[in-house]
Amino acid sequence: MKFCTSCLTPILAKDSDAIEVIKQEYIKDDVPWFVGFSGGKDSSALLKLLIIALSQLNKPHKLINVLYCDTGVENPIITTYVYSTINRLRVECNALNLPIIFEVAVPKLDDRFFVKVIGRGYPSPTNIFRWCTDKLRINPIKTIINKNSNAIILLGIRKGESEQRDRTITKHRTSTEYYLKQSGSNNRLIFSPIINHNIKDVWSTIKFNEFPYSIDHTILGALYKDAGSECPVYRELPGKSCGSSRFGCWVCTVVRKDKSISHMIENGYNELEELHKFRNWLAEFRDNVLYRCTQRRNGQNGLGPITIEGRKLILHKLTEAENISGLKLITDEELSRIKELWDIDLNNEKYIENII
Ligand code: SF4
Repeated sequence: MKFCTSCLTPILAKDSDAIEVIKQEYIKDDVPWFVGFSGGKDSSALLKLLIIALSQLNKPHKLINVLYCDTGVENPIITTYVYSTINRLRVECNALNLPIIFEVAVPKLDDRFFVKVIGRGYPSPTNIFRWCTDKLRINPIKTIINKNSNAIILLGIRKGESEQRDRTITKHRTSTEYYLKQSGSNNRLIFSPIINHNIKDVWSTIKFNEFPYSIDHTILGALYKDAGSECPVYRELPGKSCGSSRFGCWVCTVVRKDKSISHMIENGYNELEELHKFRNWLAEFRDNVLYRCTQRRNGQNGLGPITIEGRKLILHKLTEAENISGLKLITDEELSRIKELWDIDLNNEKYIENII
């Protein structure tokens, strides 16, 4: 164990290595850096080390953009935590004159979960038909990053998460230890200063580096105890998607049972109960053939979109969940788009609910 001379808190040798490599890479050039931040443990550890590294530099010269994606269907407890952490980080970084800005990415209106399900009649996602991850999480971040063709993406990717994960890391590695090539991209680089951290190291990084104070080990640890793991913010490597991880959408029907919300309810987050009931109902409802068109949108016979009546029923159930929980679950903008989409279907002669 070494000691950080500037803040006198104990840090791991792996943290010292990561801080050094961040400093070396940062001062090397003017290539823009974007950090994918989900609020989860890995991106929190990464952000802590990045802020420590920058605060140790004399006049850090280039702007770093930290990106968080708010899908609109994030677990409300987690969203509250992440927004409050971002707000505190903003203040902390400003006070230190660090060139770090925080940006929240949102999906396009037509790509939002309820616009797709209630407006267009998409069945809620499954492992086989997982239409959501790109639309809700990957594209909003990609849209921002792609404006900078040479940008480097900083992500909290680690070796040792699983054998499959290690295989994909090996496949995408570069000649430089901390860099990986993005899947499907020839020149986009991913920089992960915590690639050698194991899960225990990550928690130690968050716990023992008190600074920056805005990322609070106790609060984050408690959320993990209650909820589980997380959902990716950037399509960094193949093989990792959020279907099996639970620091994500409250409405996710990709997993059979949503254990994270159940755990949170057991731990006293009663306001999530109605959301949990709605999610379970939706997971069953998507397979109810009575509310599915018998023709697909491409004109072929087969299980098609959810009928208008079915979509109205989902909206009714969602509104009920909203009223009982007291949580805002859908925006007015989404509601008016949904109604427009119903009208478009009802006035489209090619939209057929039942082939007689
Ligand atoms: S958490 Fe579930 S619903 Fe949300 S993007 Fe990931 S797989 Fe899709």
